[in-house]
Amino acid sequence: MAVAASGELRVVSPATLELVGSVQTVAPEAVQELVAEARLAQELYGQEPLTERRALLARVAELVLARADEIADVIVAETGKPRVEAFTTELFPALDALTWLVRNAPTLLTPERVRYPQLHLKHKRAHLLHEPLGVVGVIAPWNFPFAIPFTQAAYAVAAGNAVVLKPSELTPLSGALVEQLFAAAGAPASLVRVAQGGGEVGAALVRARGLGKVLFTGSSEVGRLVAAAAGERLVPVTLELGGKDPMVVLADADLARAVDGALWASFFNCGQVCSGVERIYVEGALYGPFLEELVARSRGLKLGPLISEQQRARVDELVADALARGARAVVGGAAPARVGWYYEPTVLVDVPPDARIEQEETFGPVVTVARVSDEAAAVRAANGGTFGLGASVWTRSGERAARVARKLRAGSVWHNDHVYTYASSQAAWGGRGESGFGRTHGKHGLYDLTAAKFVDHDAGRVPVPWWFPYDDAATFAFRGLAGVLYGSHRLETAWRERRALLAMAKRYRR
Ligand code: NAD
Repeated sequence: MAVAASGELRVVSPATLELVGSVQTVAPEAVQELVAEARLAQELYGQEPLTERRALLARVAELVLARADEIADVIVAETGKPRVEAFTTELFPALDALTWLVRNAPTLLTPERVRYPQLHLKHKRAHLLHEPLGVVGVIAPWNFPFAIPFTQAAYAVAAGNAVVLKPSELTPLSGALVEQLFAAAGAPASLVRVAQGGGEVGAALVRARGLGKVLFTGSSEVGRLVAAAAGERLVPVTLELGGKDPMVVLADADLARAVDGALWASFFNCGQVCSGVERIYVEGALYGPFLEELVARSRGLKLGPLISEQQRARVDELVADALARGARAVVGGAAPARVGWYYEPTVLVDVPPDARIEQEETFGPVVTVARVSDEAAAVRAANGGTFGLGASVWTRSGERAARVARKLRAGSVWHNDHVYTYASSQAAWGGRGESGFGRTHGKHGLYDLTAAKFVDHDAGRVPVPWWFPYDDAATFAFRGLAGVLYGSHRLETAWRERRALLAMAKRYRR
């Protein structure tokens, strides 16, 4: 976490509350200049062959791997997260994205030949180009302070763009690594820049002239503001927003695996995961044994801290509201007495529908568990609420899993696992509803950072029949051709419309 001083962000460990570093901030008025410089860099870089882009990403990958321990040190110092998570949830997604991009981006971005099967267009040739958008403004949250901005910058650069990144003011040191790694790998000067500061710097970035796209990851509340500001200038936006993921445990689930999965997906990163499990629905008779096992196992868990005092207060407020309305904390429900922004792993049951925690994202180590009567009730409960980021279904039956997956309203659905595909780069990532729109990762994520340009070519030797002059014969000809091209029984239609086709042939002989 970090606190602002004038022109500086001081980073304090949320685990020990000791100072671990500081960065200089930029004034909001200076952001325009950063975007202008990035744009100049992009104009040259965007013309380089795809092999050059691939070589740059491969060099960045080597550097990330070589400096993995140093990167993990920075992440752990400023977030307090367990070191193993710095690898599994920060470095693995980053390295996987780079490797996937090195292998796939050149092919996906090569101009595609587009064929014209239509008889009257057969002499034409076309290609679909995937051009860079220019400068991509990346605005990032603090919960995965390296993986999120780094993978988004890597995708943007792979697509030929420059990047101006605004890291979270709570985790500026991890954000700074993104610029440093690209620069050290030999990226052109100003291709990847970091603008440190609070929300006002993010707002200045969204308003900057010459921005090709905004890639925003954060709360739904700020996402709305960003989309509105970008909308005023018609700058496209991808929004990766909050979530309140459900876990559906069907009666035939493997109990031990479901409990292990629930513990991890609810409590890793101290529950500060956009696509972390916040609600568990257990079918029928499995509810009792599941809850008993989950409670027993939650008690022994040691978690890292929340990111800040404010975040802990918010979690506590939602838990207190639920308890006041009649919910029961079968585990935890309070902050332990120790230095740092810790909170006990918490399991709530009997949560009434009017409790705020039923609708609002908790973003902490708190999960609610409820019994549902059958599969249909589980799907109804899981689809309740306004978010639609991730969801999982736990069952031994592949058939049931596939059926439930089709019915869940979410950007990703996992069977007997949760959320891990953020670290497998071929998987498109993104949400629906209040969880946002657009995709990062995978080919959809890459194409979301390009402008599709359709380029059509005609040698100019074949007359164009739909040009002037217009007369009754032209209408007659096109009416007949429509049936032949787009109707069924095309041979019969061609015979019936032979006079129209003759009239059409005349228009080609002009
Ligand atoms: P936040 O919305 O408070 O801040 C996100 C970023 O926006 C920060 O860098 C912040 O400085 C900046 N910002 C604040 N006001 C701004 C403004 N007016 N204009 C432009 N930028 C502004 O979110 P947070 O607390 O940093 O992150 C937690 C949230 O992020 C949670 O809701 C979580 O679910 C979400 N999240 C979503 C995903 C996803 O992939 N969908 C991933 C991680 C986190």
